[in-house]
Amino acid sequence: MLLRNPNISRLKAGYLFPEIARRRREFAALHPAAKIISLGVGNTTEAILPHICSALVEGAGALGKQETYSGYMDEGLEQLRKQISAVYYGGKFCVDEIFISDGSKCDIGRLQLLFGKEARVCVQDPSYPVYVDGSVLIGAALDWEGEGYGSICYLPCTADNGYFPDVRKISKNSLVYFCSPNNPTGAAATREQLAVLVKRALETESVIIYDAAYSEYIRDASLPKTIYEIDGSQECAIEVNSFSKSAGFTGVRLGWTVVPKVMKFSGGESVNKDWSRIMATIFNGASNIAQAGGIAALDEEGLKEIRKLTDFYLENAALIRQAVQKLGVKCVGGDNSPYIWANFGKEDSWEVFSRILEKCHVVTTPGSGFGPAGAGFIRFSAFGRRFDIQEACRRLANY
Ligand code: PLP
Repeated sequence: MLLRNPNISRLKAGYLFPEIARRRREFAALHPAAKIISLGVGNTTEAILPHICSALVEGAGALGKQETYSGYMDEGLEQLRKQISAVYYGGKFCVDEIFISDGSKCDIGRLQLLFGKEARVCVQDPSYPVYVDGSVLIGAALDWEGEGYGSICYLPCTADNGYFPDVRKISKNSLVYFCSPNNPTGAAATREQLAVLVKRALETESVIIYDAAYSEYIRDASLPKTIYEIDGSQECAIEVNSFSKSAGFTGVRLGWTVVPKVMKFSGGESVNKDWSRIMATIFNGASNIAQAGGIAALDEEGLKEIRKLTDFYLENAALIRQAVQKLGVKCVGGDNSPYIWANFGKEDSWEVFSRILEKCHVVTTPGSGFGPAGAGFIRFSAFGRRFDIQEACRRLANY
């Protein structure tokens, strides 16, 4: 039999969410009467709103008629790419710079193919685990501890630095993953902070992979919704985004990646051309049904529905925040993001996770699963039915 890819054994034991699911199953088996509520994962719970949903239905219907049937659509529908450029980037990108995908996670996993295993990877600490695990899989990073070769450079984002890292840690030719609003801390970077990040990336000839999956949750009008609001970012930043958390497309699967044409590798080659080549090689386009939904999501009515849906989850976030604060636990987030980041001090995150599960029958996410600086923290997710959120908030008082 063939040898196993050694990078797989370098992954941190169990990806975070399957591990949470395993512990939940174990608890449920021991306590079959417990009505467990999950505030643990970032999965959406609310039905897709009517205008967007009817476009999905129509998209499916079009496939059943000879006149409107369509097959492969490769880079994505031009109309959708134009709308994304207009709605999110003030029309500054042409359609060839916007690549439609089956979601941002899939693109995050594929993007590292652009840079290979030599890239020095920097991540916000804590951050969405896919950045590190994707890097480990490609052989660019050894493990969470970053021992030995190709180590991960952690950029701690803590209460002390306002959840924005010291960018001086970014060294030459780094690949920097940056997520704002951040999962898990909920911190949304200011314009000034992003300008500092872009300046450092340009100085060090580094590339930023900017994850804007939660940009539709930003309510503070002074906060940038995209890295391309910052001068110079087109030379050094690739942005990924998605309809998952804005339109409830977690199961529909639709996202996009912006790769500006002005971006060049150190040898002068076009990053945009290489991304196009990679996508043409290992991706065959997003579902045309999903794209029909995406087009509707970005028209006037659809944008109202996005606002309504994200408002709903932000209201959940406010309830959770209040309940956590009532325990005397300090927390941040939940105002421009659907995540609340709660500081339980020196206690081990998995122990706090277990205690909340045992005492409240509520599933959360242990902060240490997002990186070393997450130790002692718990992430509460605002994705849930309102009655579940209310009940979970009542039960948290038992903690
Ligand atoms: N980026 C971040 C920060 C996320 O939290 C998630 C999902 O939870 C994703 C990307 C993936 O989203 P998608 O459904 O578009 O793959």
